[in-house]
Amino acid sequence: MGKIDVSRAIKDPGQAYAFETDVTLEPMEVLGDPVGFREVRVAGEYLSPGDARVSVKADVSATADSRCSRCLTPVTFPVTAQVDAVFDRQPDPEDPDLYSFEASTVELTDAVRDALLLELPLRVLCKPDCKGLCPVCGIDLNNGTCTCQEGAEVKNPFSALKDIVLDDEEV
Ligand SMILES: [Zn+2]
Ligand SMILES: [Zn+2]
Repeated sequence: MGKIDVSRAIKDPGQAYAFETDVTLEPMEVLGDPVGFREVRVAGEYLSPGDARVSVKADVSATADSRCSRCLTPVTFPVTAQVDAVFDRQPDPEDPDLYSFEASTVELTDAVRDALLLELPLRVLCKPDCKGLCPVCGIDLNNGTCTCQEGAEVKNPFSALKDIVLDDEEV
């Protein structure tokens, strides 16, 4: 899984070969939020341009599991991405666009994960107008209400911040 045998391409530079595989990705954390990808399917083609290199172009589809960045509810959504990666037996460490491979097996996991992460929304939301959690009592404002925000003191969230900064300066 996640590996392709590219020996045919290396023997026959310039000739493209089709492939299809599944990739398993470990759960990860992105900007403090847990992110997992399931059902990661990769389909495309690989070819060797020579020079002990292999280029892979493929479509990736997956199901992403994360959580709403406002209310922390679990959110599941489909993601598609494109892999357009070059694998080199001795990649230049200065070149972040090159992935390494050994013998005649290309391991797609890193390239697929990088491609999927690029397609994640900057902020995952359960719905566009999610009201989030009350910053004072933590209640989910989509399901309930509280009176925290009615007090004059929290009318402007930055006024509290300003007080803290001023206090620090006095000390
Ligand atoms: Zn939400
Ligand atoms: Zn509250």
